[in-house]
Amino acid sequence: MESLKTQKPILVTGGGGYIASWVIKFLLEDGFFVRTTVRSLKDKNKIKHLLSLSETYQGKLEFYEADLLKEGSYDTAIGDKGGCEIVIHMASPFFIEGIKDPQKELVEPALLGTRNVLSSVNRFPCVRRVVLTSSVASIMGDSSDAEKAPEKLIDESYWNETSSLHHQPYPYSKTVAERDAWEIQKKQNRWSLTTINPSFVLGPSLSDRGDGTSVNFMRSMVNGKFVTGVPELYMGIVDVRDVAKAHIAAALNEKVTGRHIVSAEVISMLGIAKILKTHFGNKYWIPKSLLPKFLAYLVGPFFGLSWEYINKNIGISFSLNNTYSKQDLGISYRPISETLIEHINQLAEAKLI
Ligand code: NDP
Repeated sequence: MESLKTQKPILVTGGGGYIASWVIKFLLEDGFFVRTTVRSLKDKNKIKHLLSLSETYQGKLEFYEADLLKEGSYDTAIGDKGGCEIVIHMASPFFIEGIKDPQKELVEPALLGTRNVLSSVNRFPCVRRVVLTSSVASIMGDSSDAEKAPEKLIDESYWNETSSLHHQPYPYSKTVAERDAWEIQKKQNRWSLTTINPSFVLGPSLSDRGDGTSVNFMRSMVNGKFVTGVPELYMGIVDVRDVAKAHIAAALNEKVTGRHIVSAEVISMLGIAKILKTHFGNKYWIPKSLLPKFLAYLVGPFFGLSWEYINKNIGISFSLNNTYSKQDLGISYRPISETLIEHINQLAEAKLI
């Protein structure tokens, strides 16, 4: 693969996050200088795994404080000491439960944050390449969206046109942020943009943080939350390490273009439970059966699932076309059984289950 041979640090925004931490680790292992932003350097609990990486790779990892909602907040990280050529913009809130004000909690940090980072990119001529972490959520919102695609096979040509502030606000936040990034990129020709659109990311975390959506989902698959049965929900799954490698391939190869569905396989929640049960037996409270749809309507609201969500998602399968990601990024996908089992083992080691 043709590499962008940068001697300058590569910036990863939101370094304390689940996926970003793996990107940073792999970049350091590959010998790159890395710069990362975190919201607060005082919150050592969120970044202790990064501090330990900076001990291992002395002088190779720099930290800057930045907040998506503060204008100009990324200027120093992007432009300091000769600046960066490559920016991987990954920081964005990812949660789907307990949302009180979707505009403030999700849309503003995703959309204004992306604008904020790209305004800084525009201000510093050193930047040549931006990789944006978008999501499959900006390609499709509900499973029923796949019904518009032949054989319900969704590819990168689709956009999520069904999510809104009130229905599926997280997918909506990712959609408006990605659309805006493409608009901003089109207005200039100094830096190129490519997006990574992962499906649901699972696999071992480098930190023992318990506050991420991916981590919480895996905990819920073994801690008895679904002991009465899982809803018949289908989801694309991909290993966090494959997602990290996809970002690095996109960052370093200027020929990589466009959007990329990064997803290993679509599977149901019961399918996930079966893989875990086969490996772990009765060690954990792993769900054994499906929750009938009428019960999903009854108990759904207690799990944060609206009736509209249940209608448009439960019992509806779909496929994600990952061909372009394999060709353009040169990645191959780990089997999801490995992803799931290693994730549970890591959570057990971190005493999170
Ligand atoms: P995490 O919650 O682990 O990471 C989110 C990161 O965003 C954290 O570093 C967090 O900072 C940062 N962040 C949130 N709000 C702000 C803010 N106001 N200012 C600055 N930073 C902020 O999630 P993931 O690693 O899972 O997600 C990373 C990216 O990947 C996101 O863009 C997400 O939308 C995308 N994605 C994730 C998928 C998944 O399944 N995990 C699937 C598809 C896309 P802090 O560390 O301070 O909390």
